[in-house]
Amino acid sequence: MEYICRICNQPRPESAFTEKSHSLHTCKKCNVLPNQRTEERDQLDEIFKIFMQTRISQKDTVRLKTLCTSKYPRVAVHATLVFEVSQLRPYKKGRFAFLEQKYPELAKRIEDAGFFYPQYIKTNSN
Ligand SMILES: [Zn+2]
Repeated sequence: MEYICRICNQPRPESAFTEKSHSLHTCKKCNVLPNQRTEERDQLDEIFKIFMQTRISQKDTVRLKTLCTSKYPRVAVHATLVFEVSQLRPYKKGRFAFLEQKYPELAKRIEDAGFFYPQYIKTNSN
Protein backbone atom coordinates (compact mmCIF):
# COMPACT_ATOMS: atom_id res chain seq x y z
CA MET A 1 0.00 0.00 0.00
CA GLU A 2 1.22 3.47 -0.86
CA TYR A 3 0.26 6.86 0.53
CA ILE A 4 0.49 10.26 -1.04
CA CYS A 5 2.67 12.80 0.75
CA ARG A 6 0.85 16.13 0.67
CA ILE A 7 4.11 18.08 0.44
CA CYS A 8 6.12 16.33 -2.29
CA ASN A 9 2.88 14.91 -3.70
CA GLN A 10 4.49 11.55 -4.46
CA PRO A 11 3.03 8.14 -3.68
CA ARG A 12 5.29 6.60 -1.07
CA PRO A 13 5.41 3.21 0.62
CA GLU A 14 4.46 2.83 4.27
CA SER A 15 8.16 2.66 5.16
CA ALA A 16 8.68 6.26 3.98
CA PHE A 17 6.58 7.49 6.90
CA THR A 18 7.04 7.59 10.63
CA GLU A 19 3.98 7.31 12.82
CA LYS A 20 4.07 11.04 13.44
CA SER A 21 4.73 12.07 9.85
CA HIS A 22 1.97 9.73 8.76
CA SER A 23 -0.57 11.56 10.87
CA LEU A 24 0.54 14.78 9.16
CA HIS A 25 0.35 13.15 5.72
CA THR A 26 3.98 13.97 5.02
CA CYS A 27 6.77 11.53 4.25
CA LYS A 28 9.84 11.44 6.52
CA LYS A 29 11.86 13.50 4.07
CA CYS A 30 9.29 16.29 4.00
CA ASN A 31 8.66 16.26 7.73
CA VAL A 32 11.32 18.89 8.44
CA LEU A 33 11.71 20.80 11.68
CA PRO A 34 9.50 23.87 12.13
CA ASN A 35 12.49 26.23 11.98
CA GLN A 36 13.43 24.87 8.55
CA ARG A 37 10.03 25.52 7.11
CA THR A 38 9.42 28.13 4.49
CA GLU A 39 6.49 30.51 4.32
CA GLU A 40 5.01 28.28 1.61
CA ARG A 41 5.29 25.24 3.86
CA ASP A 42 3.73 27.10 6.79
CA GLN A 43 0.76 28.00 4.63
CA LEU A 44 0.40 24.43 3.35
CA ASP A 45 0.40 23.19 6.95
CA GLU A 46 -2.13 25.83 7.94
CA ILE A 47 -4.52 24.68 5.19
CA PHE A 48 -4.13 21.06 6.18
CA LYS A 49 -4.86 21.91 9.81
CA ILE A 50 -8.07 23.64 8.78
CA PHE A 51 -9.04 20.61 6.70
CA MET A 52 -8.50 18.26 9.66
CA GLN A 53 -10.66 20.23 12.09
CA THR A 54 -14.02 18.82 13.14
CA ARG A 55 -15.64 21.75 11.43
CA ILE A 56 -14.35 24.45 9.08
CA SER A 57 -15.53 27.74 10.59
CA GLN A 58 -16.57 30.94 8.85
CA LYS A 59 -13.30 32.52 9.99
CA ASP A 60 -11.33 29.66 8.41
CA THR A 61 -13.29 30.10 5.20
CA VAL A 62 -12.24 33.77 5.05
CA ARG A 63 -8.62 32.75 5.64
CA LEU A 64 -8.84 30.08 2.91
CA LYS A 65 -10.17 32.64 0.48
CA THR A 66 -7.11 34.80 1.12
CA LEU A 67 -4.80 31.82 0.64
CA CYS A 68 -6.53 31.01 -2.67
CA THR A 69 -4.66 34.01 -4.10
CA SER A 70 -1.30 33.05 -2.57
CA LYS A 71 1.84 33.72 -4.60
CA TYR A 72 2.72 30.06 -4.14
CA PRO A 73 0.82 28.02 -6.74
CA ARG A 74 0.55 24.90 -4.57
CA VAL A 75 -0.82 26.88 -1.66
CA ALA A 76 -3.44 28.37 -3.98
CA VAL A 77 -4.41 24.90 -5.25
CA HIS A 78 -4.71 23.42 -1.75
CA ALA A 79 -6.61 26.45 -0.42
CA THR A 80 -9.04 26.29 -3.34
CA LEU A 81 -9.67 22.59 -2.73
CA VAL A 82 -10.35 23.02 0.97
CA PHE A 83 -12.44 26.11 0.28
CA GLU A 84 -14.62 24.08 -2.10
CA VAL A 85 -14.95 21.38 0.56
CA SER A 86 -15.91 23.98 3.19
CA GLN A 87 -18.77 25.17 1.00
CA LEU A 88 -20.12 21.64 0.51
CA ARG A 89 -19.27 19.90 3.75
CA PRO A 90 -17.80 22.01 6.58
CA TYR A 91 -18.18 19.08 8.98
CA LYS A 92 -15.50 16.43 8.89
CA LYS A 93 -17.74 13.58 9.95
CA GLY A 94 -18.82 11.49 6.96
CA ARG A 95 -17.13 13.95 4.60
CA PHE A 96 -15.19 11.50 2.49
CA ALA A 97 -18.16 9.24 1.79
CA PHE A 98 -20.31 12.27 1.03
CA LEU A 99 -17.84 13.77 -1.45
CA GLU A 100 -17.02 10.45 -3.06
CA GLN A 101 -20.69 9.88 -3.69
CA LYS A 102 -21.85 13.37 -4.69
CA TYR A 103 -18.68 15.05 -5.92
CA PRO A 104 -16.36 12.27 -7.10
CA GLU A 105 -14.22 14.64 -9.15
CA LEU A 106 -13.53 16.86 -6.12
CA ALA A 107 -12.97 13.78 -3.94
CA LYS A 108 -10.36 12.58 -6.42
CA ARG A 109 -8.54 15.93 -6.44
CA ILE A 110 -8.50 16.01 -2.66
CA GLU A 111 -7.17 12.46 -2.55
CA ASP A 112 -4.49 13.23 -5.16
CA ALA A 113 -3.35 16.18 -3.05
CA GLY A 114 -2.70 13.76 -0.18
CA PHE A 115 -5.45 15.09 2.09
CA PHE A 116 -7.73 12.15 2.64
CA TYR A 117 -6.61 9.66 5.24
CA PRO A 118 -5.94 6.91 4.79
CA GLN A 119 -5.36 7.54 1.15
CA TYR A 120 -4.49 4.62 -0.97
CA ILE A 121 -3.55 4.01 -4.55
CA LYS A 122 -5.48 1.35 -6.37
CA THR A 123 -2.53 -0.65 -7.63
CA ASN A 124 -4.25 -3.25 -9.77
CA SER A 125 -5.80 -0.95 -12.39
CA ASN A 126 -3.24 -1.85 -15.06
ZN1 LIG B 1 7.13 14.01 0.89
